[in-house]
Amino acid sequence: MANWDAIVIGLGGAGSAAAYHLARSGCRVLGIDQYPAVHPFGSSHGKTRIIRQAYFEDVAYVPLLRRAYELWNQLEQSSEQKLYHRTGLIELGPANGVVIPGVLRSAAEHGLEVQQLSIAEVQRRWPGIVGREDWLAVIEQNAGYLNVEACVRSHLQQAELASATLRHAQAVRSWRVDGNAVTVTTDHGVECAGRLVIAGGPWSASLLGPIGVPLQVLRKHQYWYSPEQSGYRQSDGFPCFFHETPNGYYYGFPSIDDAGVKVARHSGGTKIAGPTLEGGVDDEDRSLVERFVDNYLPGVGSRLTAQLGCYYTVTKDENFIVDLHPDHEQVVIVAGLSGHGFKFTSVLGELASQLAIDGSTTLETSFLGIGRFKS
Ligand SMILES: Cc1cc2nc3c(=O)[nH]c(=O)nc-3n(C[C@H](O)[C@H](O)[C@H](O)COP(=O)(O)OP(=O)(O)OC[C@H]3O[C@@H](n4cnc5c(N)ncnc54)[C@H](O)[C@@H]3O)c2cc1C
Repeated sequence: MANWDAIVIGLGGAGSAAAYHLARSGCRVLGIDQYPAVHPFGSSHGKTRIIRQAYFEDVAYVPLLRRAYELWNQLEQSSEQKLYHRTGLIELGPANGVVIPGVLRSAAEHGLEVQQLSIAEVQRRWPGIVGREDWLAVIEQNAGYLNVEACVRSHLQQAELASATLRHAQAVRSWRVDGNAVTVTTDHGVECAGRLVIAGGPWSASLLGPIGVPLQVLRKHQYWYSPEQSGYRQSDGFPCFFHETPNGYYYGFPSIDDAGVKVARHSGGTKIAGPTLEGGVDDEDRSLVERFVDNYLPGVGSRLTAQLGCYYTVTKDENFIVDLHPDHEQVVIVAGLSGHGFKFTSVLGELASQLAIDGSTTLETSFLGIGRFKS
């Protein structure tokens, strides 16, 4: 006999949302995480995450993003916390590159409002941003950033208010399916449930075992610089930014506090077997970021105020995995968020809850299924 309707392993970005949606649906939920709540050891820390709808990666994500926006808004209302800041997002790059055509395609197919700008217009509006003369820019006003830790905390608090039981600082050692029930062994004991959601972030490979889906963990870095010139603050109207450069993708956020402008490299990253407790420094990554700043945000300068490590967990096609386990229909997997998943975690929690309860989702998610990896 199962003690719980559902257990959620991992209470980071996706798992905190899954616990919340399962509890709101009336399930008796147990959530377990190996670390204290809202910790800096996984993938959901560092103050800010970009959220946008005109998705250059794949138009198929847009319906999920529309729902994600609704759910973030609902979470703001229920938790009485500001989570989303609508700063606008400026994307710059070659007209025949990946980002600009992708943004325009998503906007056209889904009727999203974006405005195309020449680089001269960009520099008139935001003298702190430099682009190459032969690039184009697109501004999406209905975009900005989420306060990443506050989002996770709000999902956890609302899950508890909806009667979920959350246990932190308890590691899951193993899980197995016994008939209709799932048994989870932690370093504190054994728990049984009818359903299991695994949302282990960069630890997913070891939690999932062999499911035929390679998940590569990349060590990434986020940097904050105290700007040397004015105009880079959110209160100045400075937007989030994303550049496709000949040296890869770079992005960042307006200055929101004393730490200054946050900048990071979306491309690259060090391949590692799994998370380690040290964040590490990467001189090459930092010098690439500073070269980017020098070229494209020259008034920011190089006064580094803070630096944090983080992890991407990347699938081969850089799309997420949101599906039932291939061998166990009682087990839901949310993994491989591939360095662009935080903005979706509100809707991923809802989808995970639907998969656990009904075995299917109300939104189209077949492009995120495990079956796509079978050749
Ligand atoms: C530097 C950086 C910048 C990013 N920028 C953006 C952005 O701008 N926009 C965007 O949308 N996305 C962005 N992302 C991606 C996004 O942050 C991640 O995709 C998302 O946070 C991943 O959430 P998760 O729930 O999969 O992992 P996590 O939040 O890491 O959660 C996994 C949880 O599982 C727990 N766990 C694992 N194993 C066990 C176990 N055995 N027992 C118990 N608990 C366990 C962990 O302790 C952890 O809390 C960025 C990522 C990084 C690293």
